[in-house]
Amino acid sequence: MMTRTKRTIAQRTRPILGVATDITSPRLRRAIARVFRAIQKHPKDWARLRRRVRGILLKDLIDNDPSCLGMWVTDSREKKLFLAERRCRSLPLDPKFHVPGHILISTGVDRLPWPRLVALIAHECGHAVTREHEFNKRDGHDSEWSSELCADRHAFRWGFEREMRVFAQHRDFGHHAVLPGEIIWQEGIAFKVDRYFYLRRCPDRDDPENLES
Ligand SMILES: [Zn+2]
Repeated sequence: MMTRTKRTIAQRTRPILGVATDITSPRLRRAIARVFRAIQKHPKDWARLRRRVRGILLKDLIDNDPSCLGMWVTDSREKKLFLAERRCRSLPLDPKFHVPGHILISTGVDRLPWPRLVALIAHECGHAVTREHEFNKRDGHDSEWSSELCADRHAFRWGFEREMRVFAQHRDFGHHAVLPGEIIWQEGIAFKVDRYFYLRRCPDRDDPENLES
């Protein structure tokens, strides 16, 4: 049930292309609209975003983590309902890819340079739109990396490669970036990201000093 505060905010602030928000900063609203219009060119993604994103809200995220600028959070009550409904069925599904939620944007981000602002919003929308099968296909090494790869892939598909490459240099640890052509090491084992955002083994770049025996 919507609280009185949320109802007041929703009434006071105009939605952005149909998505509820409490954001009033004209620059931030323009950046969100810019990303939403790009997603609208991919009707299946836009339909999924509209189904899942109940709102895009301003929140003081920096209190918990000074480097956290945005976050996609699924609704915990919906997760419990989803799991209860699926209890009798055989197909295992992870509620985090199916239930609605909110995109949270940290207060103060409207001061970011325009490419970083747009990339931040595109990245969070990418998390919201990620489908379970997309994640599973990229999982197997480290699920945190898989989640970030999926979100960034969507941002690239929507036309924000340039902005994402600028944003990648400033990303916080929770949304660590690895973009096509780049290499990461996990316990000394090297992986290169291909243009479809899959991690590919890259043995000639392994780091022998950190390899587990
Ligand atoms: Zn992320």
